[in-house]
Amino acid sequence: MSFKVMLLPGDGIGPEVVDAAVCVIDKISNKFNLKFEFDRGLIGGCSLDQFGVPITDETLNKCLMADAVILGAVGGPKWESLQHNLKPEAALLKLRKSLELFANIRPAKVYDSLADSSTLKSDVLRGTDFVVVRELTGGVYFGTPRGFDDNRGWNTMEYSRYEVERIARHAFELSLTRGKRVTSVDKANVLDCSQFWRKIVHEIHKDYPEVTLNDMYVDNAAMQIVRNPKQFDVLLTSNLFGDILSDISGIITGSLGMLPSASLGKDHALYEPIHGSAPDIAGQNKANPIATIASVAMMFGYSLKNYEAAALIEKAIDKTLSGGYRTADIFSQGTVLLNTKEMTQMILKNIDEISD
Ligand code: NAD
Repeated sequence: MSFKVMLLPGDGIGPEVVDAAVCVIDKISNKFNLKFEFDRGLIGGCSLDQFGVPITDETLNKCLMADAVILGAVGGPKWESLQHNLKPEAALLKLRKSLELFANIRPAKVYDSLADSSTLKSDVLRGTDFVVVRELTGGVYFGTPRGFDDNRGWNTMEYSRYEVERIARHAFELSLTRGKRVTSVDKANVLDCSQFWRKIVHEIHKDYPEVTLNDMYVDNAAMQIVRNPKQFDVLLTSNLFGDILSDISGIITGSLGMLPSASLGKDHALYEPIHGSAPDIAGQNKANPIATIASVAMMFGYSLKNYEAAALIEKAIDKTLSGGYRTADIFSQGTVLLNTKEMTQMILKNIDEISD
């Protein structure tokens, strides 16, 4: 049986980094004797230009039929002034909603060789390896009523038992494959919705006695991520808090070009780098492909449960960085500057070297 991957390269540097992802999947499928079937679709500005909508129903249906979706990035100055529902980003929301991707997973891991390039002290960073599990389809971003008039603005922060249970289970299950520690982040000292969140998380925890659970207020969590990020294993949190905390966690790896993500639902999965379409370097073969290649590693882990393949890709990235190879965004004196294609080739070579 082949594994169906829907490729949505998108705009700007999206096609360049998705090409890199395909090269890595090809390499791994040869090594592990796996079969992949690829399809491609347009998303974002390129879809608007061709079809008048940021994603067509046909492309959406193909995503629904796929085992996994790999997305590059969408957007750019050309489409910025369009009305909200025509903007390239509207396609992302539609896609996440249609695929019911309720869990957003963002690893915050320090590659030892890059520890010196962050704005945080390297001894604070070294050894950091945690994952933010953010609830993605509920909470204040979706609650109703919402709106504003001349005198007032309002939103509704709301979670159902079902929504908290499924994301909490997801975090506990994930922690079982890692350090068996979950920190649930809320604001239960002020928000009723957070009190409810905390209550349900503790109920679900009873099914996972081998996992250590602690609660942390979101303001403290923001400080602790910067002060002592090594203390965390899995950070479980709601949509709004996760949005903010996962960006703070981005400081850990030093560059946007290094940060992968997975958005998972019951039946679907989408893998994408955190970064945008980087119009300033698009089409110049300068983009760092590591975020997308690391997203492919997540695909092998989460969707195919092939942890060996996932680890092999991770190790190849690590080896490449340790060897002093850098794209422009992470370049420093004394390292070797590579373009997108050269960086991809170096990672492929290291996959071969590690596995042979
Ligand atoms: P951006 O992430 O595209 O770029 C920010 C900076 O980081 C730029 O200097 C860029 O060159 C650099 N950068 C980003 N990814 C890189 C990579 N892989 N390698 C090297 N350098 C990299 O953010 P932005 O400039 O705020 O947004 C540009 C466009 O992307 C906008 O239209 C925005 O709406 C869109 N966007 C899309 C997504 C997405 O598709 N998920 C996410 C964020 C922004």
